[in-house]
Amino acid sequence: MQLPKFSFGMGDRFAHQAKAQLEACLLAAQQGADVTPVWNKSNREHLIIGSEPAGTRAAAAAAVQQLSWTKPYFLDADHINLKTFDRFVAPCDFFTIDVADNIGQKSDEAEIARFVERHPELIGEITIPRIDQPFRTDKAFVEKTAKQFLAAVQHAGEIYRAIALSKGNEDFVAEISMDETDSPQTPVELLIILAAISDETVPIQTIAPKFTGRFNKGVDYVGDVKQFAKEFREDLATIAYAVEKYSLPKNLKLSVHSGSDKYSIYAAIREGLQAFDAGVHVKTAGTTWLEEVIGLAEAGGDGLALAKEIYAEAYAHADELCAPYATVIDIHKDNLPTPATVNGWTSEQFVQALQHRSPAEGGDLPEYNPDLRQLLHVGFKVAAKMGTRYTDALEANKEVVARNVTKNLFERHVKPIFLG
Ligand SMILES: [Zn+2]
Repeated sequence: MQLPKFSFGMGDRFAHQAKAQLEACLLAAQQGADVTPVWNKSNREHLIIGSEPAGTRAAAAAAVQQLSWTKPYFLDADHINLKTFDRFVAPCDFFTIDVADNIGQKSDEAEIARFVERHPELIGEITIPRIDQPFRTDKAFVEKTAKQFLAAVQHAGEIYRAIALSKGNEDFVAEISMDETDSPQTPVELLIILAAISDETVPIQTIAPKFTGRFNKGVDYVGDVKQFAKEFREDLATIAYAVEKYSLPKNLKLSVHSGSDKYSIYAAIREGLQAFDAGVHVKTAGTTWLEEVIGLAEAGGDGLALAKEIYAEAYAHADELCAPYATVIDIHKDNLPTPATVNGWTSEQFVQALQHRSPAEGGDLPEYNPDLRQLLHVGFKVAAKMGTRYTDALEANKEVVARNVTKNLFERHVKPIFLG
């Protein structure tokens, strides 16, 4: 099972927007970009919502049928590990094997020594086509890097084999993710990691390193865009080199776990891909859920009232909602409006505070509040607790919600990344 060159990960937390999301891929196709849809939902999201991966599959399959989508699509078991992969095996055909927690875990000294011995080519001067300066490494550096990552890669191998055993075949897309960790992996570390992955014979088609800068949920990139662009290109060069050198799958590509809305690096991604004729997988997640809230707010009446109720609850439970996402949000609490203030808002005020407009739309409005946006981004548990009250509101306001979902994915994400 081969993941095509360009693929786009979308999260459909409440399993109501698959069709509106797929419309974004149809629009891309009409404008000349083949972008494969991948529906991703992490175990954490399933637990918070109380949903099952089979439900995501059913929603995706229904959308594919309704829109007569005949090209490939995938269902991603996002950020799974040995403890959580089981219920994803049947419905999923894409597995994001998350070993970020295993980075830095002690591995056997003899294993490290064997790795270093097996890879004399990693010591000294490594010249990679299209990277200006060759990497210079010594034995100590390779040892140190192996110490940092070998256990994680071997654990990924263990998870991969467990999935294959449980599925009864290896006909699925495997990704290894190391993004949910504190320090970014440099291109030379990526090369060493890829050598280890090849040793472990995990035929990954995507790899998600931690890139330089902050990827907070639902807001723009925070960091040095130039540095990101440089590292992104060096990662592309490193992957192309490693594919040949270590016989990794030919379609191996980077996976960017964007946390959504990284508008300021989209141009760097697109230009890097063009320059290297490379593919990419870009994952977005909570952005569709926020468009649901925006759609409800825009609808006014009961929809707006429900959006306000969601905010009030999220505000009241901010600490609890933020805790699982502490490393990927940055909320200034004193910048959060009180529920009393929000209750006085019109549809327009609510939408303007929450909507994150892209550069092509003229950028942020002065009313845009990234703190409120991040809080609601992690606040989907509130809507999950509302149960059918929430999903009935989605049904009652189907058109306005769908319009926002499609427009957001296509105009703000797919277009700047894949079409320019
Ligand atoms: Zn991730």
